[in-house]
Amino acid sequence: MSLTDADAWKVFQRIRWPETDGAPVCPKCGHDRCYDVTRGATPRFRCAACRKDFSPTSGTLFAYHKLSIRDYLAAVVLFVNAVKGISALQMGRDLDVSYKAAWVLCHKMREAMASEMKGAVIGGEGKTVEVDGMYTGGHIRPENRKEDRVDRRLAANQNGKRKVVVAIRERDGRTVTAVFPSEDASVDFIKGRVAKGTVVHTDEAATWESLRTKFRVKQVNHSIAYSHDDACTNMAESFFSRMRRAEWGQHHKISDVYLNRYAAEMGFREDHRRQPNGSLFNRVVGLVTKNAPSVDFTGRWQRKAA
Ligand SMILES: [Zn+2]
Repeated sequence: MSLTDADAWKVFQRIRWPETDGAPVCPKCGHDRCYDVTRGATPRFRCAACRKDFSPTSGTLFAYHKLSIRDYLAAVVLFVNAVKGISALQMGRDLDVSYKAAWVLCHKMREAMASEMKGAVIGGEGKTVEVDGMYTGGHIRPENRKEDRVDRRLAANQNGKRKVVVAIRERDGRTVTAVFPSEDASVDFIKGRVAKGTVVHTDEAATWESLRTKFRVKQVNHSIAYSHDDACTNMAESFFSRMRRAEWGQHHKISDVYLNRYAAEMGFREDHRRQPNGSLFNRVVGLVTKNAPSVDFTGRWQRKAA
């Protein structure tokens, strides 16, 4: 927080353009000779080859920024330090920005984290992967009077918001997450994201039997033990316990619409949990510079109000 804005821009530029030690490189044509055409607080450059004007955040997740660059970098520090995630309310207070600004910012960082595992295939010959699911959301509040209450176990009395987060975690490797209406619906996804030759460990649920058409599957019966017959899903469980802590302790409720983003964030945190916060900061800012926003959050609040 003691960085001047000029120094904060230098930090951002060095991470965005490491090959030139922070000197601007044209995002359109890749030319590295640019004129400085800065007017005001945000650096602006003009490509000497194609004449395109750009700023250090052009084409990145932090484009069209409204806050100062120092606040963006501070937000990344706060975000990577929060092992169980951080709510937009707390981020807003820590940075002294509005809840809305903090909410959008947190989602941009989640998007950066998620991009690391986008489309990645894990496992392979000699590798072990653990697969498990966690149902969440769709809570129906019981009516006040007992005679008005319905059987909430029946599909007809549910609201369709109950989802399952599936985690596919390679031992000593990375975690792939995704969200489905049921564990059954996740089988094809798992087959697509785990390489042939992988040994897959799951719990006793009948759904996972269908993974046997592609993998060697070891199932552990949790009603007998957490780990037996040399099958174990503790790594997947540890991802879910972090996810639960984030849901209960930080966000209180995670909307089913954004569940996949929170799951990817928690996968990132779990996979990099032993790294120092300095390298996490560099990693997240690096991912921010390599990704353009896939979702346009501008106008979200207006739509909600409407
Ligand atoms: Zn250019």
